[in-house]
Formats: sequence, structure tokens, C-alpha cells
Amino acid sequence: MAVLEQLTSQKAIDLESKYGAHNYHPLPVVLSKGEGVYVWDVEGKKYYDFLSAYSAVNQGHCHPKIVDAMVNQAKTLSLTSRAFYNDMLGKYEKYATELFSFDKLLPMNTGAEAVETALKICRKWAYEVKGIPENEAQIIVCENNFHGRTTTIISFSNDPVARKNFGPFTNGFIKIEYDNLKALEDALEANANIAGFLVEPIQGEAGVYVPTDGYLAAAKALCVKYNVLFIADEVQTGIARTGRLLATCGNCTCQTKNCEGTPETKADILILGKALSGGAYPVSAVLANDAIMNVIQPGNHGSTYGGNPIAAAVAIAALEVVKEEDLAENAFQLGEIFRAELSKFATENELVKSVRGRGLLNAVLINDTEESSTAWDICMKLRDNGLLAKPTHGNIIRFAPPLVMTEAELRDCISIIKTTISEFKK
Ligand SMILES: *Cc1c(COP(=O)(O)O)cnc(C)c1O
Repeated sequence: MAVLEQLTSQKAIDLESKYGAHNYHPLPVVLSKGEGVYVWDVEGKKYYDFLSAYSAVNQGHCHPKIVDAMVNQAKTLSLTSRAFYNDMLGKYEKYATELFSFDKLLPMNTGAEAVETALKICRKWAYEVKGIPENEAQIIVCENNFHGRTTTIISFSNDPVARKNFGPFTNGFIKIEYDNLKALEDALEANANIAGFLVEPIQGEAGVYVPTDGYLAAAKALCVKYNVLFIADEVQTGIARTGRLLATCGNCTCQTKNCEGTPETKADILILGKALSGGAYPVSAVLANDAIMNVIQPGNHGSTYGGNPIAAAVAIAALEVVKEEDLAENAFQLGEIFRAELSKFATENELVKSVRGRGLLNAVLINDTEESSTAWDICMKLRDNGLLAKPTHGNIIRFAPPLVMTEAELRDCISIIKTTISEFKK
């Protein structure tokens, strides 16, 4: 078989099944092209993408500005490693730190690497600035978190599928209930060696769990009170997804109309990934001010590809697109419509319990058990009807389209979702 031969969907699935490790269970659809909010399968069928690669493709598939930046840079200089300087990294660091209002940026590639980086910075700060005795630092995390797949990160996951038989695990983490300020204060009160609090502003993988209004500001205030770093994992919520540039927008320069720019939720350490490249390339970053970031000195941390010229060029273009096309504002407006329409539908349809989310990060809760296959079965019917979404649990479907969607397209999608669920029979 020639490698370039045009495959059928079934053939492509068979190849992955035989030659690929089985670490995912994809919806059976084989995509070969994407543009804006649309993707096409190998048979040429067109779909609305309502996953956006877990919010990596906020700017839409194959955005021409991002693709151009990538192609041009790839033709000029792709990788030097950090053994030498390159002429793109500094420009990107200046652009991103000014946009998000932090002193410094540390570039990595994947979200998990950026989370690892944040944990290492936090620990080093704890020993060298806060004065915690060596090897005693503890970092508070939340139940049902998702921060990635490394051995340290799964050490504080409570997903049995992600953890079982991967031990021994990394010590130094204390798990508390999400959206529970008393649990946070109790944990801070009980232990003098707390270095940081790592939190997702909205728990995406857990099922788009939105905390109570004011939770993040109050959590940050507790961190200030106990001299503990507030670490926001915005790999999924960041870059306009929730209707603001960041879900923890501080005194940034995002200028989104609906963003109050609340310095009281600004992170001490901000973790970005996914849409930082608009889905073109793996780009992640950790941002912090000098008082924290300066604990990192030559040799302490690094990555061969982190901060490479292509990543830098792509990230600048991806962030410019967010601003130029006002994607935060669009996500905010479309999110209001989506939740209003689906809340109304929930009152009319027995299968839909409720809808929740912020901006264009939303979940529809299905009236069935977590162990049921109903959400999966509905996603299969949505696929048949030209819309791709994925369950986060047996009874939760996440809806997160690219933020470049128009209102007319969104209304078309809402109608597909309503019709599919209305016609659905178990
Ligand atoms: C996706 C995600 C990560 C991990 O990113 P990878 O690029 O897959 O390593 C970390 N944190 C959150 C909140 C995520 O959604």
C-alpha cells in the first residue's frame, strides 16, 4: 500500500487500531481537512467542529494568518535550541508579557510541560524566597482536576483510569474539594509549608464545572493572606475561550468589553497552552513576575524545542488573531445565546437536564447515569447530522466550537443539536 494512497475512513481506523497504541477511544470519524469552524472527513462529508481540539483551535482551523506565519518562519529558521539566541523569541516574549501583564515568560511546548514548569518554579520559590525547609513544600490542588499526563501530574489526579499501575507517585500535593473556600483555608491554616494553590478557573475535563461567582477572587485573597502562590492553569480556559482573554484576567490589556479586568483574580503563575498556537503547533508558556520567575537560573530547567522560532512566530500570530477578530467578545455573545437556547430546550426535553459554562466553553448534562452510554450515543447521532462533539463523562457533552463562529452558524448548530436530541431514542 502506498503511504499517499487515499484512504477510506474504515481503512484509516483499521491502520490506527493495528499499528497505534490504544491510548484513546476516538469517535469514529476520520478527518482530512479543516477550515474555520468546519472539518471534512475523508469521504468529503462536512461537519461543524464542536470540540476545537479541546480548545486549541479557538482561532478556527488553518487560520491563514497563523499558517502564513508558520510557513514563512519554517522556511527561514525553525530550531536553534536555547544554546543560542534566535531573533523571534524575544519579540514573542515582549508581546505576550505585555498582553497578559507579567514581567516574564518561560516557553515550553505542551500543556503538561507548562504545568510541570509551574510546579517546579513554585517549589523553588518556596525554598528560596518563602523559606520553607528543603523538600517540605506542599502544593494544594483540587479534586477532579485535569492538568495533563506526566507522572507527577497524575500523582495528584483522582481519575483511577489515568493513575492505576503508574505508581509510585510524586509526593508534595494536598487535594481539596474544588469550589470550596473553607477547605482551602483549612488546608492553608493546617500546614505552614504550603507553597502554592494550583487551580483550573473552570474544570474543563471534569465536565465544564464552573465555580461559584467570587470563588477565584476569594481563593486568590487567601493565597495572598498565607503567602502562597496562586497558580492558574488556563491551558483550556485561556485565550478568549470563556468570553474574556483569560478567565483570570487581571490588569491585562485585553480590552474585552465584558471583561471587568479584575486584578483580584490575577494569577501569580499563569499557565497557557492549546490555543496559544491556534492549533498549528505545540506551544505552551508559563508567565510570572520577576520576584517569582527569577528563581529560575541557567541549567535549572529547559526544553530543546521550547521557545523555538516557529513557535514564537505562530504564537504572536495566534494572539494577534484573537485581538484583531475580537474573539473574546464573540465567544461571550455566542455563549449567552447558546446557554439561553439550550436552557429553554432543557425545560421541553426530558433527556437534557441543564446547560452550564462560560463563553463558548459549555456542557450539556444528559438525564442519565455517569456510567451510561447515552452521551456517547448522542454524539454518534450528532456526527451523523454533521456536528462533532465528545462526551466528557457518560452523561455530559462538552460543546466548544472555534470562536470564529458567526451567530447564523451557531443558530444552525443549535438547531442540529435540538433536532438530534429530540429524535434520539435509547
Ligand atoms: C489539555 C490540558 C492540559 C494538558 O495539555 P497537553 O498539551 O495535552 O499536555 C493541562 N491543563 C488543562 C486544564 C488542560 O485542559
